[in-house]
Amino acid sequence: MHDFLARIKAGETLILDGGMGSLLQQLGGSMKSSENNLLYPQVVEKAHRLYLEAGSDAIITNTFSLNGIYAAKQKLTPEETERSLRAAMEIALRAADGKHYLLADLGPSGEMLAPFGTGDKEEYYRAYRLQAEQMAEYAIDAFIIETVIDINEALIILQACQDAAPQIPVLLSLTFSSLKRGGCTLMGNTAADIAAKAEANGAAAVGANCGDLTPEQYAQIVTSMHEACSLPLLLQPNAGKPKREGKQAVYPLSPAEFAQQMQSCYAAGARILGGCCGTTPAHIAALVQSLKA
Ligand SMILES: [Zn+2]
Repeated sequence: MHDFLARIKAGETLILDGGMGSLLQQLGGSMKSSENNLLYPQVVEKAHRLYLEAGSDAIITNTFSLNGIYAAKQKLTPEETERSLRAAMEIALRAADGKHYLLADLGPSGEMLAPFGTGDKEEYYRAYRLQAEQMAEYAIDAFIIETVIDINEALIILQACQDAAPQIPVLLSLTFSSLKRGGCTLMGNTAADIAAKAEANGAAAVGANCGDLTPEQYAQIVTSMHEACSLPLLLQPNAGKPKREGKQAVYPLSPAEFAQQMQSCYAAGARILGGCCGTTPAHIAALVQSLKA
């Protein structure tokens, strides 16, 4: 297996995984994604393996909600959070089996930084630094920071990862809600600004995931980022724009439609590709096939 950083810098295509939450439920796990690490480790491992079988080159750990800020909101103690995190790392290592890249996942705080919310920069930094230090004890190839809507929060997490483990590359992925001004997040950060700041602050790759945009619309954001920086670009969109059906969000794109729309993102320059909400191993398999065609 090639060095991860060398591979993405060379502009080689790298396939990530797809949605985890609903897949874990489908396989018999809990609705609370992180709870599965301790309660149903075999379900989490199965989900990772299904993505590898579909053609993913990398496993993303099931640690999205296991930062101290978000975990505290879920009434998890620091000890419970660490136990779930370490379980997730062990499961992912087992599934990767030294044959696939292992990316350690960090998700948003679920709060807003002051002055928009009550979030405190120092407190965020400490929480993410602890999470990054614990994850860096395992043989990971990179950190991936994802589904963040505020570039300032993303940069705090980036700094925490770099300080915890300077040798481990960090991928930065923000979530977009509109195509205004070349694409922007709910907090109004533009794709160009995010890409420039990611590069200036030493991220190894930058991109987008989740949100309200279709893969085809995300191609415009990839273009904006491509013009604003020279970093490798990553993209993990949802299976289309979610529609509400009762309490559930339904994602409209079939695997074939998803794969077809992803072609425009590839053409725009994204080479690290996967899916987010509503995407399944079938979506990843279709993506892999369409890139070969
Ligand atoms: Zn998502």
